Amino acid sequence: DTLPGDPEPRVFPRQVQGALWSAVEPTPVAAPQLLAHSREVAAELGFSDADLASPEFVQVFAGNALLPGMQPFATNYGGHQFGHWAGQLGDGRAISLGEAVLPDGQRRELQLKGAGPTPYSRTADGRAVLRSSIREFLCSEAMHHLGIPTTRALSLIGSGDGVVRDMFYDGHPEVEPGAIVCRVAPSFLRFGHFELPSSCGDIELLRRLVDFCIARDYPQLTGEGEALYAAWFGEVCERTARLVAEWMRVGFVHGVLNTDNLSILGLTIDYGPYGWIDAYDPDWTPNTTDATGRRYRFGWQPRVAYWNLGQLAPALAPLFADPAPLQAGLQRFAEAFTAADRDTTARKLGLADCRDADVELIRDLHGLLHAHEVDMTLWFRALADFDPAASSLAVFEEAFYDAAKREAGEGAFNAWLQRYAVRLRDDALTTEQRRARMSAANPKYVLRNWLAQEAIDRAHAGDMAGIGELLEVMRRPYDEQPGHERYAGKRPDWAKDKAGCSML
Ligand code: AMP
Ligand code: MG
Ligand code: MG
Repeated sequence: DTLPGDPEPRVFPRQVQGALWSAVEPTPVAAPQLLAHSREVAAELGFSDADLASPEFVQVFAGNALLPGMQPFATNYGGHQFGHWAGQLGDGRAISLGEAVLPDGQRRELQLKGAGPTPYSRTADGRAVLRSSIREFLCSEAMHHLGIPTTRALSLIGSGDGVVRDMFYDGHPEVEPGAIVCRVAPSFLRFGHFELPSSCGDIELLRRLVDFCIARDYPQLTGEGEALYAAWFGEVCERTARLVAEWMRVGFVHGVLNTDNLSILGLTIDYGPYGWIDAYDPDWTPNTTDATGRRYRFGWQPRVAYWNLGQLAPALAPLFADPAPLQAGLQRFAEAFTAADRDTTARKLGLADCRDADVELIRDLHGLLHAHEVDMTLWFRALADFDPAASSLAVFEEAFYDAAKREAGEGAFNAWLQRYAVRLRDDALTTEQRRARMSAANPKYVLRNWLAQEAIDRAHAGDMAGIGELLEVMRRPYDEQPGHERYAGKRPDWAKDKAGCSML
């Protein structure tokens, strides 16, 4: 890592050819402080309460010290962003400390986000601000507890350093508190890791990476050569399809669905300008840079994920004599998404199985929720309490944002509930079974944008307790939690039209 004439090794941004990673050390921070941690991730990695309380823990996960055996590195990847090939991107502010091997042989990579510059930092500083770090920490844990594949977060550490950001994009940068999240996943490989060597014509490097990924992350796949690669790509397509169907189930909008932000393991990765649906709206996006586009909208996630796989496929083509297995993989996405989406429909509506007419039933419901500004989470949660015998809108009162729109929709909603009641009478599940199925599919607590913002505002005022309080509630999203109803509350007026958060 030295430039000619440099007395000391240092990090400088550059194009890295012929390599998938670079050795790089985190840059120390001034006054690290542990602000929050995930007890489940800590336990899985074997950290005791005493470890968590030790000064050494904070030093290591702030990037100020290394444990024996840690050999930090940043990886090289490219990506399609906003529909265009962006060339080399890489871990500009992520540094992996290494891999932990769990007692059962599973692997967990520990990665610091915001630990200083890497060869891939381009013109940026390699740092992360507290607000975006709180959002990543909370949302990745909330996602896990919703039962959706995701990278995890071990720790959130305030750095004690300031980070300069132009939060309002007005040319007047502010100094914000900095932070570092330690992310944890079996692998942080993205589609873009495979695209980059392919784009450079480095097919041997591409092949080595695919072989490595299959050996480490897909050991259950059998076969060899092209047949093995085909099975692997098909599995990637299927996992991506299932993941997106899960996001659609809970109302999560990723916000930057680019190939550099899609995991080769089908995990939710890269929590930037994400957001959660309040009032049901397939056109809503938290990404303010996409206000006129469609790419990052809620309802477009299935087709944009598919588009991204459509970029990965040609990148892998040099490994295949014939493109048919790649086309078959893409087809598997379509089939897996349809199947997962039908499963979601049955679960959300509390039906034993999804019939063709049920697809229409839920589509019509979505249309009504959109037209009449109804909170998605509150509506589906309340639907379990709907009594087909005493058909009325009473249980849905809380879910409406606008009294006039509620009134205008009353007839249409009642007609829909009639159809639903008829369908329920023709279903195999008992009322009890139906309710159990629904409350395991329709969360009561999701990390609503306003909740994360509230925790951030408190943190900026010096009160870090809101982070842990919110995490505690998000650990049991499907449970009724008496005393915590406000966390299930709909978006307050102050939060309307506030997008997720800055991407920086
Ligand atoms: P994202 O939009 O967060 O997926 O980031 C796209 C690319 O920009 C990735 O290569 C990131 O590593 C890089 N990047 C984002 N923020 C920073 C930063 N503060 N410092 C260095 N690189 C960054
Ligand atoms: Mg500003
Ligand atoms: Mg990214």
